[in-house]
Amino acid sequence: MTAVLLDGKALSEKIVQECKKETKDLNPTLAVIIVGDNPASAVYVRNKERLCEKAGIQSVKIPFSKEATQEEVIHKIEELNNDPAITGFIVQLPVPDHMYVPDIIRAIDPKKDVDGFHAYNLGKMFLSTEFEDLPPATPAGIIRILEEYNIDIEGKEAVVVGHSNIVGKPISTMLLNRNATVTTCHIYTQDLASHTARADILVVATGVPNLITGDMVKKGATVIDVGINRLENGKLVGDVHFESVSKKVGHITPVPGGVGPMTVASLIKNTVHAAQRQIMEHGTQSKEQALKKYE
Ligand code: NDP
Repeated sequence: MTAVLLDGKALSEKIVQECKKETKDLNPTLAVIIVGDNPASAVYVRNKERLCEKAGIQSVKIPFSKEATQEEVIHKIEELNNDPAITGFIVQLPVPDHMYVPDIIRAIDPKKDVDGFHAYNLGKMFLSTEFEDLPPATPAGIIRILEEYNIDIEGKEAVVVGHSNIVGKPISTMLLNRNATVTTCHIYTQDLASHTARADILVVATGVPNLITGDMVKKGATVIDVGINRLENGKLVGDVHFESVSKKVGHITPVPGGVGPMTVASLIKNTVHAAQRQIMEHGTQSKEQALKKYE
């Protein structure tokens, strides 16, 4: 048996087209604060800009040098919070080690937090699907893949490997909101394989190349590989050993071309949603207004 590939790239293009229909009279503007010169971040930000353009979203890059202070970055965040021309913004992670990420995220106005990392937006997710208003982009992208391929969640055994605040914990919550029986594994989990082998839906987000092998998965399962790892030979691989796992399971995301593009598409979707909410509250704006301060 060979698994069906869950094509995140094609689906992300579809989402962008859906968003484009909604941006026509909306003029959303996404600002991206980027601190330092992390090469991976530069690639991610370029992808975000590219998809924004396709979706009819203005994007503005706000660079800081790696020596910038946390106070300078927070001051900029406060400016963006109060700027009606900016409907959503993110701080591209990672930031340099002298900065404390929770303080940076806390400074963002939850209404403009299109990465969905603010405690307010994360906390709301615990209530129910109705309150998943600005969900974190990667988990939202995973749920959309499952929905698009008609993979049932309700009543299924879902196992998440990794418990980070941006992937593992929120995807566990979103699966629970959809009535899966959820197990969340992490570095302290004993006998990881005994858990992963039970999973109808297995989500892996650890940053450990090829952690999950064919002998650790259930026949016919759906496997979502979030990991993006660059090997010494330059090859990009996930956290799942694709060759052995794809022979056994029913559905699997490739790396690249699976969760990665869906993360960006979900960010775009959040950006549109945040702009819609702000326009309901404050009225519309022109593209010129949106961009004039950042020329
Ligand atoms: P973090 O490093 O924040 O979290 C990794 C998690 O994996 C932690 O909970 C850690 O446990 C757990 N873990 C590490 N090693 C093991 C192991 N051997 N067995 C079980 N659990 C383990 O990473 P992120 O969640 O931010 O990202 C995970 C991966 O996903 C990375 O490769 C990242 O690049 C990628 N990523 C991809 C995205 C995409 O769009 N495709 C978006 C975001 C991330 P503990 O904390 O206890 O050590």
